Amino acid sequence: MIEPYGGKLVERIADESHAAKLIDEAKELPVLHPFIDQVYDAEKICTGAYSPLEGFMCREEFESVLSNERLPGGLPWTLPVFLAPSNREDEHTISVARPSDSLALSDGTGKIFAIFTLEEKFEYSRDALAKSVYGTTDRSHPNVADIANLSTTAAGGKVLLLRRLDHGGFEYTPRETRAHFEKMGWHSVAGYQARNPPHTAHEYIQRLTLEREDVDALLIQPIIGRLKKGDYRPDVIMRAYNAFVSSYYPGERVMLASLSITMRYAGPKAVLFYAIIRRNYGCSHYIIGRDQAGVGSFYDPYAAHRIFDRLDVGVVPLRYGETFFCRKCGVMASRKVCPHGDEFHESTSQTRIRKLLSEGKPLPSEILRPEVADILREGDVIGD
Ligand SMILES: [Zn+2]
Repeated sequence: MIEPYGGKLVERIADESHAAKLIDEAKELPVLHPFIDQVYDAEKICTGAYSPLEGFMCREEFESVLSNERLPGGLPWTLPVFLAPSNREDEHTISVARPSDSLALSDGTGKIFAIFTLEEKFEYSRDALAKSVYGTTDRSHPNVADIANLSTTAAGGKVLLLRRLDHGGFEYTPRETRAHFEKMGWHSVAGYQARNPPHTAHEYIQRLTLEREDVDALLIQPIIGRLKKGDYRPDVIMRAYNAFVSSYYPGERVMLASLSITMRYAGPKAVLFYAIIRRNYGCSHYIIGRDQAGVGSFYDPYAAHRIFDRLDVGVVPLRYGETFFCRKCGVMASRKVCPHGDEFHESTSQTRIRKLLSEGKPLPSEILRPEVADILREGDVIGD
C-alpha cells in the first residue's frame, strides 16, 4: 500500500487510558473556541489525514506554502492550515499566551476535544492569503468571505486529540481505512471526492475507474464539513451515497467514508490538497473531474488537471472531462466517444436536478438512480 505523505502517518491521539484524565486536566487550562473549520482541521491533523503536519502552521510553514506551494522541507503543499481566532475571547486568550503554554480546544458544543501547545504567534495579511490561495480578494468567494472574520494574528503549534468528534456513522481515520484496504487485499485504491449526492455522470467516471486494470478498489469520500448556503445536508449526501453504493457496486471493491472538513473552493490548489489527504487515507490514485473544487467562474475548469503536471504528490491523477447521457448513443458518454450534438445530451447539472425537485417533477433515471431520487424527494434535503 502507498506510504502516507512524507513517509510516516502522524498520529497524535491520547491513549484511551489517559484521555479521561487529560480531559479533566484540560478543564483547568485556558480554553479556545475555534471556528468550526479549525476544529475539523485540528482533528484531521491528529488523525494523520494531514500528514506530515503535526500542528497548526507556524510562520515559516505558512509563508512557504503561500509563496512556494511547498512545505519548508520541499514537499508540495498548497493550502495553509492555520489557527487564527474568530472571536474576541480567543483573541485575548492568544494575546496573553506564551510559547509552550497549553490551551484546551473546545469543539463548538462546549466540549473540550484537544490540547494545543503554542509554539509561535505571527501576523499575516488577509489579502495576501486570499490572493495566494484563492486567486482573488473578492468577497463573493465563500472562503474569502470567511477569512475576513479571522484575526490577523495566527497561533502555530502542535495539537493532541483527546476525543474524536461525532460526524455520523461513516467517518474513519487513515489508520482505519488503511486497515480495511489491507483486510480486503487492495493495493491500489482510487480516491473519489464528492460534495453532492451521486448522479449518473459521477457514476460513469467511478465505473470507468473501477474498470482500470491498475485500480483494485474505490474509496468514495464525500466532504461533509460546514455547509454553505444551498448545499445538501451531510446526512442526505451520505444516505444517498449509501443507498447507491449498496445497490449498484460490488462491496468487495468500494468503500464509502465521510471526510469532515470544510470545503475549500480553491480550484487546483484545493484539489492538490485533497489528493494529499486521500494519499494519507491509503489512496494511490485520485479522480479529478471537471471543475472540482471550483465555485462560480473563479477557476478554469481544467486547471485542477494541470496542477499535477507541476506538483508531484505521489498519487496517480485520473483526469476526466465532462460526461453526459447521450440519447442518440443510448449510454453515458463524453466528447471523446460521442459525435452527437448538445440537443441529444441530458445534463446532470445540480441546477437541473434542484429545479426538477423543487417543481415536484420526476427525475429521469438517465440522470439519477431511483434509490437516490427517492431520498432527494423526501424534502428538507438542503441545509441553510
Ligand atoms: Zn452520442
